[in-house]
Order: sequence, then C-alpha cells, then structure tokens
Amino acid sequence: MSGSNRFLDTKHVTISGLGKIRVSGSQKRLFSHADSIRVGTITVRRDATGRYYLSMQLGSDVPFVDLGQNHESAIGIDLNTDNFLTDSDANVIANPRYYRAIKGKLAKQQRKLARRALRAKKEHRALRDSKNYQKQRVLVANLQRDVANRRDAFLHLLSTTLIKNHDLVVAEELRSKNMLRNHALAMSIADVGWRRFLGMLAYKADLYAHKFVTVDPRNTTQTCSDCGFVMSGDQKLTLADREWTCPQCGTIHIRDHNAARNILAKGLALN
Ligand SMILES: [Zn+2]
Repeated sequence: MSGSNRFLDTKHVTISGLGKIRVSGSQKRLFSHADSIRVGTITVRRDATGRYYLSMQLGSDVPFVDLGQNHESAIGIDLNTDNFLTDSDANVIANPRYYRAIKGKLAKQQRKLARRALRAKKEHRALRDSKNYQKQRVLVANLQRDVANRRDAFLHLLSTTLIKNHDLVVAEELRSKNMLRNHALAMSIADVGWRRFLGMLAYKADLYAHKFVTVDPRNTTQTCSDCGFVMSGDQKLTLADREWTCPQCGTIHIRDHNAARNILAKGLALN
C-alpha cells in the first residue's frame, strides 16, 4: 500500500488503513524536502514491551542529506573479533564494553524468569495469571530493548561517521559459511551486529550519495599490502598473529591494518 502514505508534518504520518499517526524518530531531519520523498513499503512492529515501531522504505531522486561539499576520500574497514573494526588509516574502534556488562545482567534476569515460569508450572498456574512471572517478563524485555538500543546507537554513530566523511567505504562480504562453522565466532558476529552494521553503511551511502561496496575477503589478511606477496602453507597467518613481517619486502604489518588496506585496494579496483 503506497500513494496515500505520506508525511503530514514533522510529527505525523498518514498511513492508508490506519489514518493519522503521531511518530517520533529521525524523519524530522528529512522533512526539509518532504515533497521529493516517496514512501514505499511500511512495516509496523510491536516489541515485547508494547511499543510500536514503524519502518518506512523511502525513495528520493535527490540525496536525503546534502553535505554541500565533496569529501574526496576512500577508506577500507576490516571487521574482526579483537576489536570492532580497524580501518585502512590504522584507526582501531574497540568493541563496545557497556554491551558486555549489560549482557551479564540480562542473563541473570533471564534465569530468574525461567525459575518463575517453572514455579508457576509446578503450582499449576497459567503464566498469564502469574503476576511475578509477568513482572519479570517485562523487566527482561526492557533490558533486551536496552541492549538493542545501545548496540544500535553505537552502530549508527560509527556508520554515519564513516559514510559522512568518505566518498567510498569498502568492507568485506561477511564470510558467513566459514564463520558459522566456528560457533563461538558466529555468536560473536551476531553479538556485535556486523550484518546490521553493513546494512546501515549501505543505506546511509544512498542517503549521502556516497559509495559503499563489499569485496571478496579472499587473501585480504594473507597479502602484503606493500608488495603483494601472499603468505601460504606454513607461513600462513593465524588469528594469533597480530603482527607479522613480510618475508619478501620486510615490511612489518599490523594484521588488521594490513587487511583493511587490502580491502580498500580491492574496492578501488572495482570502481
Ligand atoms: Zn611485502
């Protein structure tokens, strides 16, 4: 359903079938050129705490955000498990710690929720009638939302900064097949939200009319970004090798920085 879906002002949208709805969110920034915006698919989601979220697919022929100046620069980013990412300029973004802290608290409250469910079952009470269970369920849902919000705030800030300041951002395609074979690694990828992060980079590149591309991760770690030598066989670098020396040209590399430079080079070759 589209056509009759549109922004009325900075605080209201009208949606066919639902009517006029008051909203809060990032649409305010877009409203300066609301006339050029087409509203596509709309998804309404309700979370466990009863809040409603509206996702709108928007289209426009002009960039959503006009920076008014050209940033002539390109950057490669290496997503890894030691830190959140390392870029081709050697900047390292650490994994957000607050997220870990709240996760411990969440696990504790989830166990409490499970205990209350068990007790209600033992006493032959339906969960929906068990006040203690319901109270705990809301508490857990609020914590989960807090975790998701903090993670999103971190991912949004980082992705916006990268896209705003660079014409071209290059990342690796996520190696889902290989990575998922390693369960701990797969968990950690879901944890830090790399997939969500790459999605943000893609749509923000569209917003700012900048470019975001992903490249084949093959050999980005094993190749010397100075001379092109590829480590193989016994020489092959492992996750434990954070620094290494190229046997051909003698350059000392920080593994992730070297990888980010190779990722950038692959992206530039595509353009
Ligand atoms: Zn080399």
